[in-house]
Amino acid sequence: MTAAAPILGRVTLKQGGGGRAMRNLIERLFIREFASQPFDGVGLAAMDDGAAIPIGDGQFLIVTTDSHVIHPIFFPGGDIGRISVSGTVNDLAMMGATRPLGLTCGVILEEGFDIEKLEAIQKSLVDTCREAGTVVVTGDTKVMGRGEVDGIVINTTGVAITRRVVRDNGLRPGDRIIVTGTIGDHGLAVMAARHGLELEGDLRSDVAPINGLIEVALQAAGDAISAMKDPTRGGVSSSLHEMASKSNVGVVIRESSIPLTDAVRSSGEILGIDPLHVANEGKALIGVRPESAEALVAALRTHPLGRQAAIIGTCISERPGSIILDTGFGKRLLAEPEGEPLPRIC
Ligand code: MG
Repeated sequence: MTAAAPILGRVTLKQGGGGRAMRNLIERLFIREFASQPFDGVGLAAMDDGAAIPIGDGQFLIVTTDSHVIHPIFFPGGDIGRISVSGTVNDLAMMGATRPLGLTCGVILEEGFDIEKLEAIQKSLVDTCREAGTVVVTGDTKVMGRGEVDGIVINTTGVAITRRVVRDNGLRPGDRIIVTGTIGDHGLAVMAARHGLELEGDLRSDVAPINGLIEVALQAAGDAISAMKDPTRGGVSSSLHEMASKSNVGVVIRESSIPLTDAVRSSGEILGIDPLHVANEGKALIGVRPESAEALVAALRTHPLGRQAAIIGTCISERPGSIILDTGFGKRLLAEPEGEPLPRIC
């Protein structure tokens, strides 16, 4: 963990962007005291997708929480309700817990918010819970005055039990890196929707609960899976940097293997934004032992949300913490993003 230089001034949007700026804030401000207190599980200091609390008999209670401030609240492929359920369900799944026992849902509304929109969001929450095989079991509603909050903010917390906790720091040299489908869809779709950009092709968010897909992965590859993380804010680049540095390995990524839709490829080029740096809301990065990689990809492809799963890279012992992009013409270091290029992406 970084030595604690004081952080001065005021909070910036970048510090919510899922990259280095956010990690600095969290490490220096929120984690120090809690991390120094004894806790016999995977806690705050691990900065993983959730916590793992030992509950005896070899089992762990997985807990994760997420607040959703996405703007606009309705976008191609989803809305704030769908992302609120998916984000939390997926973080549980990334810890190895694919069957959520239940979710909490806290809603903060701005005075004047349209009830019809609220009903549509509620319906989306219900539908997405059904898709994920879970349910909201308790909640809270607050209303603030006009201008005191922007429309709606939703927090969800999820709990689930697992016997095998999967961490984001278990990569070993030789492990393959698999991505479960195309990347960059969510970030670019929301960016286009927010700015009313008319771009070629059909940009749609990939937001979805992927616990069913991850269950397939765990059944197919079991203990050969060494690490998992969902590449949300900051995209594949940010998540891979975090996994690589926590695991003390380097990762070589083959650019030509990365699955991309034509719409993402062309709009990324037009906007000058690398799809590796933008958020996904229905994908996972999975580290797996080399001998199980092909079988895992084949298993993922049997699931509707994993049809385009691909092996995109290999872990190496050299250059720990670095991501090396093999473009086919040469190799270069992929920069670790400060954070998501667009605030309020989830
Ligand atoms: Mg996550």
